[in-house]
Amino acid sequence: MSQRYDLLIIGGGMVGASLALALRGSGLRIAVIEAVAQDSGTQPSYDARAIALSHGSQRIFDSMGLWSAMVAATVSPIRHIQVSDRGHIGAMRMAAAEEGVEALGYVVEAAVIGRVLNQALADSDERIEMFCPARASAIEVLPDGVRLQLEHQGQTRQLHGALLVAADGGRSCVAEQLGGQYFSRSYGQCAIIANVIGEREHGGIAYERFTDSGPLALLPNRAPAWMADGAAGERRWSLVWTVREQELEEHLQLDDAAFLARLQQRLGRRAGPLLSVGPRRSYPLGLRFLRDHVRERLVFIGNAAHTLHPVAGQGFNLGLRDVACLAEVLHQQVAEGGDVGESTALQRYEKWRRNDYLRVMASTDTLARGFASNLLPLVVGRNLGLLATDLLPPLRRVLTRQMMGLSGRQSRLARGAG
Ligand SMILES: Cc1cc2nc3c(=O)[nH]c(=O)nc-3n(C[C@H](O)[C@H](O)[C@H](O)COP(=O)(O)OP(=O)(O)OC[C@H]3O[C@@H](n4cnc5c(N)ncnc54)[C@H](O)[C@@H]3O)c2cc1C
Repeated sequence: MSQRYDLLIIGGGMVGASLALALRGSGLRIAVIEAVAQDSGTQPSYDARAIALSHGSQRIFDSMGLWSAMVAATVSPIRHIQVSDRGHIGAMRMAAAEEGVEALGYVVEAAVIGRVLNQALADSDERIEMFCPARASAIEVLPDGVRLQLEHQGQTRQLHGALLVAADGGRSCVAEQLGGQYFSRSYGQCAIIANVIGEREHGGIAYERFTDSGPLALLPNRAPAWMADGAAGERRWSLVWTVREQELEEHLQLDDAAFLARLQQRLGRRAGPLLSVGPRRSYPLGLRFLRDHVRERLVFIGNAAHTLHPVAGQGFNLGLRDVACLAEVLHQQVAEGGDVGESTALQRYEKWRRNDYLRVMASTDTLARGFASNLLPLVVGRNLGLLATDLLPPLRRVLTRQMMGLSGRQSRLARGAG
């Protein structure tokens, strides 16, 4: 006998949990299946990485009634972005004031986002049911929905949903079980993340520096009081440093002083002297796009549909736009009394997301590859590009609005319409 739901979400990380919360009040009966216990300390979605949320993502969380809890937990506004190319003259600056907004984006630690989403899920009504820790297997697509098996609290259960949403990250077990085909590209690079304390306050400036091994970003990121380096206040930065795969181990093995010296050499003096660095973690980088992210009774969202290089800080922002658009389509389906897994509704969603996917994939890939090269035509081209963008306000404005997540047709949540 299976338990029946309208919607099954596999993956209760940043994107899956956000979708369940965006559908509060829809009347839909939702099951969220998450493999890793939230308090295990190993939850992969809610680790120490700093997430640069775009202005559009801030509006989505605000419309969902979650932004004030994030602000209370600590967010750091990005008021200026400075982009430069190490060893070359090209540079570009963006400012929130030019766009007439308080911030171009906000830096929030993934662990903080996790706390807020998990609390909101715990406070939501019984129509959202959380199975955690639990793993789904034997996924079967049927004409009227999807059936799967679940191991939870020592019991095997069968769940049936009219629609299955896979939000289970870059190594999606749903794609694996149901045969998903990805377009993928490896950059031969890894990202090292760490929190760094500087001598001077960051002043809301984010630095993106392109180097011959890959991009390096330093994001303003005040720590919440409950974290170990909470006392550093506005002197704390989050580092995302891209290095070549073969150089990763060497960077991880450096002692703190040698690591900071190398970082300072790559970055120059723009952020002032860097005094200390916290634990380092690394992530392999690549581009992966699922060719068919919408199928019969099945939608892939977030990293399960697209994994990006973090150079432009777009991965979660793109995933949150998936959430806002899918929630809108499903709300509309419910309002019209339709079946939420019906293919015309899912095709509407697929069509809506197509341009955003192509735009973000192309721009992120160009940045990741174009700026990692030392070939003369590429160096000249990208420096002319940076200079032109800096000198031509309309061009800069287009790029800034894309980075702020304000290009293309906006969802109701992103427009603040709730
Ligand atoms: C170094 C780095 C920096 C980044 N910086 C930014 C940034 O500044 N801005 C930005 O927008 N994005 C950024 N990103 C991207 C962002 O982290 C991801 O896009 C985001 O985490 C994707 O969330 P997700 O919920 O789709 O996937 P995940 O975070 O991978 O979550 C997947 C969830 O599914 C669960 N799961 C997996 N398999 C199963 C299963 N079989 N059954 C049940 N549950 C399962 C996992 O436990 C996990 O909770 C960065 C990424 C990296 C690596």
